[in-house]
Amino acid sequence: MPFSPDQIIRPEILALSAYHVPPARGMIKLDAMENPYTLPPELRDEIARLAGDTPVNRYPDPDAAALKAALREALGIPDGMDIMLGNGSDEIIQIIALACGKPGAVLLSVEPAFVMFRMIATFASMNYVGVPLHPDFSLDTEAMLAAIARYQPAVIFIAYPNNPTGNLFDAVEISRIIDAAPGMVVIDEAYHAFADASFMDKLAHHPNLLLMRTLSKLGLAGLRLGLLAGKPEWLRQLEKLRLPYNVGIVTQRIAEKLLQHRDVLLQQAAAIKVERSSMSRRLSELEGIEVFPTDANFILFRLNQDHKAGQVFQELKQRGILVKNLDGAHPLLKNCLRVTVGMPDENTQFLAVLQTLLVKIEAKA
Ligand SMILES: *Cc1c(COP(=O)(O)O)cnc(C)c1O
Repeated sequence: MPFSPDQIIRPEILALSAYHVPPARGMIKLDAMENPYTLPPELRDEIARLAGDTPVNRYPDPDAAALKAALREALGIPDGMDIMLGNGSDEIIQIIALACGKPGAVLLSVEPAFVMFRMIATFASMNYVGVPLHPDFSLDTEAMLAAIARYQPAVIFIAYPNNPTGNLFDAVEISRIIDAAPGMVVIDEAYHAFADASFMDKLAHHPNLLLMRTLSKLGLAGLRLGLLAGKPEWLRQLEKLRLPYNVGIVTQRIAEKLLQHRDVLLQQAAAIKVERSSMSRRLSELEGIEVFPTDANFILFRLNQDHKAGQVFQELKQRGILVKNLDGAHPLLKNCLRVTVGMPDENTQFLAVLQTLLVKIEAKA
């Protein structure tokens, strides 16, 4: 008799619950930080032609040289810095964790943070340490510095802006953390398109700093393309773990084309930012809700104690609106929901349904 899976699979993997993606067919989907806008018809036709002409019988360019050149230009990657591409930035996090996963090595981040930091640390047999933010979701720098001194983390991940809270941490405080870190510090700028801040121009000033970006939140989540920029000394090593054809030929070609038309994506991001302010304002006008400041394409809010986030989440879902329930994800997120900024009519519908629910629950209480 062969062993059963639970005799073979590592105990920490058996203990994990899989990353859950709820079914969303026919729903107003405001749970996953996607750009709600589609591409204009001319551009879609151009992509269709391009995809049709792509030699899918051949392996893609393993170095993706043309795409990298386009990204370098579009994102303003400083001279002297290398780029590594990933199948989404999730894959880049995985490559980094695999590379640093010596026995006992620590991956450190803040809490609450992007859940994949913790999950991928576990995949790669790293020890995960999460340092709680202040209750207003600002960085607890003293606690971070103490954790750095105590655990000597091989790598620190900080999302800037942070997910799921939406805020930008203080850049000076982050720089103190980078200077104190014995290992790599990766600033994850997944929401850069919606924030007016970046560590790109600081890459040259800190030898241990790496910067991660993705095209997902900008409107290309389905293509799966992320990138890491940093000093060649680091990227040369990480490149060894990248599977040779991790970015498919269709993704390479379409991403390159869309970068030539990035004004379209940037206009969509600008529209999302306008809609974000209006939505934050309208949310904060509702009775019994605390809205947190955001520099991303989503808004975190907390319901007061009369309302249960889980119940509001379920009732929104029954009415065809999908948001993210964060109650229970971390003590600091008690009774919190996260909503992605959608198209204006989706947001209006969400706000109207939410208001009705709050009034209804209030009346029952
Ligand atoms: C969405 C997200 C990512 C992952 O994006 P990919 O689609 O894998 O490129 C990375 N970091 C943060 C903080 C995110 O919110």
